[in-house]
Amino acid sequence: MASANWGYDGKNGPDQWSKLYPIANGNNQSPIDIKTSEAKHDNSLKPISVSYNPATAKEIVNVGHSFQVIFDDSDNQSVLKGGHLSDSYRLTQFHFHWGNSDDHGSEHTVDGVKYSGELHIVHWNSGKYSSVTEAFTKTDGMAIIGVFLKVGPANPNVQKVLDALNSVKTKGKQAPFKNFDPSCLLPSTLDYWTYFGSLTHPPLHESVTWFICKESISVSPEQLAQLRSVLSNAEGEAAVPILTNHRPTQPLKGRTVTASF
Ligand SMILES: [Zn+2]
Repeated sequence: MASANWGYDGKNGPDQWSKLYPIANGNNQSPIDIKTSEAKHDNSLKPISVSYNPATAKEIVNVGHSFQVIFDDSDNQSVLKGGHLSDSYRLTQFHFHWGNSDDHGSEHTVDGVKYSGELHIVHWNSGKYSSVTEAFTKTDGMAIIGVFLKVGPANPNVQKVLDALNSVKTKGKQAPFKNFDPSCLLPSTLDYWTYFGSLTHPPLHESVTWFICKESISVSPEQLAQLRSVLSNAEGEAAVPILTNHRPTQPLKGRTVTASF
């Protein structure tokens, strides 16, 4: 398994990642199963608030195992605050995880229940570090909002993203993606669970304050199928759709999960 070739199926899938990334067996790995009866309410947790400038939306990129919507993060125009974060965290990208059928696909689970997918809105600590590359190895470097996708009515805001996928069907393609405020993808209430964990794919750095929203958002079966139609191959190669791109839940290893509600 070459470092660039990690993936989500047997021969280079999550069970194999520790061969090249020993931190895969670390003490603070993500995702986890959130056991709601063990998640204690913490009065000192502030609500999370986001302030995103739609003008910072820049482009959409097919990265082979997924696609990302990238934001201009050269200054603090789009930020996340709250929880126990001491600084503002700057928006850099968002992406989705999904599965090969509608009954699973989320990375985090709640009392063992799997959702159909999960949105990750990724931010880095711009109060303390100068770039996402510097921040993403630091314990206080990253803050990610996770939102569960649940099958139901089609979601018009998710559709705006899906409509851009035709221009980035294959690995390495990128296309402009402008004037988009990702707060339109958030649920109506921002009650959350929070814990310390990691990036959920290599390099798996243990650098993430996670905020997992209690309330899910709706997507239709057709929209989940559109996610699965994105290709992992480069242009001109045989078509290999990304049918699944979620890591299984990892051991809690004594960590605490706290709830804002
Ligand atoms: Zn993710």
